[in-house]
Amino acid sequence: MKRLIKNVRLVKDACSKAIQDGMIVYEGNVITYAGKRTDVVSNEYDQIIDGNGCIAIPGLVNCHSHAPMVILRNIANDMKLEDWLFGRILPLEANLQGDDYYWGTMLAACEMISSGTTCFLDMYLDMEQCAQAVLDSKMRANISKNTLTSDKKTDRGTIFDGKAYEQFVKKYRGAGNGRITTSMEIHSLYLYEPELIKQSVDLAVETNSIIHIHVLETQDEKKNIEAKYKMRALEAMDRMGMFNVPVVAAHMVHVDDVDIQFMKDKSIYPVHNPTSNLKLASGVSPVDRMLKEGICVCLGTDGAASNNNVNMIEEMHIASLIHKGVNRDSKLVSARETFQMATLNGANALNSKIGKLEEGSPADIVLLDETGIHNAPGFGDPVEQIVYSMQGSDVKTVIIDGETVMKNREIIGLDTEKIIAEVKSIRKRLES
Ligand SMILES: [Zn+2]
Repeated sequence: MKRLIKNVRLVKDACSKAIQDGMIVYEGNVITYAGKRTDVVSNEYDQIIDGNGCIAIPGLVNCHSHAPMVILRNIANDMKLEDWLFGRILPLEANLQGDDYYWGTMLAACEMISSGTTCFLDMYLDMEQCAQAVLDSKMRANISKNTLTSDKKTDRGTIFDGKAYEQFVKKYRGAGNGRITTSMEIHSLYLYEPELIKQSVDLAVETNSIIHIHVLETQDEKKNIEAKYKMRALEAMDRMGMFNVPVVAAHMVHVDDVDIQFMKDKSIYPVHNPTSNLKLASGVSPVDRMLKEGICVCLGTDGAASNNNVNMIEEMHIASLIHKGVNRDSKLVSARETFQMATLNGANALNSKIGKLEEGSPADIVLLDETGIHNAPGFGDPVEQIVYSMQGSDVKTVIIDGETVMKNREIIGLDTEKIIAEVKSIRKRLES
């Protein structure tokens, strides 16, 4: 199938100048042309999508999420992180079961698609269910499976289970025509004993796995890790050999200049989660300083229990604003830098060819409708418009791996009413 998207304002990537009169050709799941409009011979194409009034961008990459947590949306707000996590979230999570994770991921997938995300990096419990939801929703995802488990659900890791991890990798790495990739979840340094983490790291190296981990989210975490390991968190990770594989590190809020210098030399991809960090009052990550040092910072929503959505357009908006305000410098974390975090940087962290629209890239394309009142009169730089003015609800059409998964805001092939009903009944059960 050869398809054409015509009459779009084209944003090929975060760096190049937007093309006002652009078009995209893709054959199967690969882009074969993205550039200025050329003469079109209609009968060359199996399908022509008229993108008039739209901006075309590469699909957004949500680099840190816990998809099924949409089940717990608005269940615990305005609480201290410790009370929120240990008092409310973990006891509720202990009652999740069976296909709860599937329906939660399906709902998150619908929300992500409808706000322009085409790929996400996820860690949670029961990732087999999550993988099935990715296959069924036609999204692209990197799914992080843990190696450290426990008999008790509230206690996240006292037993090393390398075998289950290897089986998961074997089953899902490359599944769904390559839409699924896998990585290793090591939830954090604080949940497990060092010997168990080291065992996991060795397996990550052996299986050539990206490690997905939470690092330095709170001041208390930093204090506790330094007391336990008698060194900085990043040094402890280095000692355990973590940086022998790429490490995608969520949060990275409490880092100083010494940490930033350290990060420059290591295979680390920090993920900025501004909404979650603000909502749980964890602090503000010095992302502006990381970007200045050329560190590949990515962007993620975190789970919907601490956000409370999985909308990357909104996440970009907040990411671009807070550093200006906190540092009283309006030049910091520009729209283009923010857009790059949400596209190409995420793609690089996941070692994927997505994140840009060019010949040879996977056809993960999002069309944003710019005809709404809040976008008028238009004319501005499209990237700045997306980050500063647009809403997730402006996403009109979404193509993942060459397949149209949302058209004119209608999600194709998924029964969203049933998905919402399933999640409602799970939530009712949890709260009863
Ligand atoms: Zn998280």
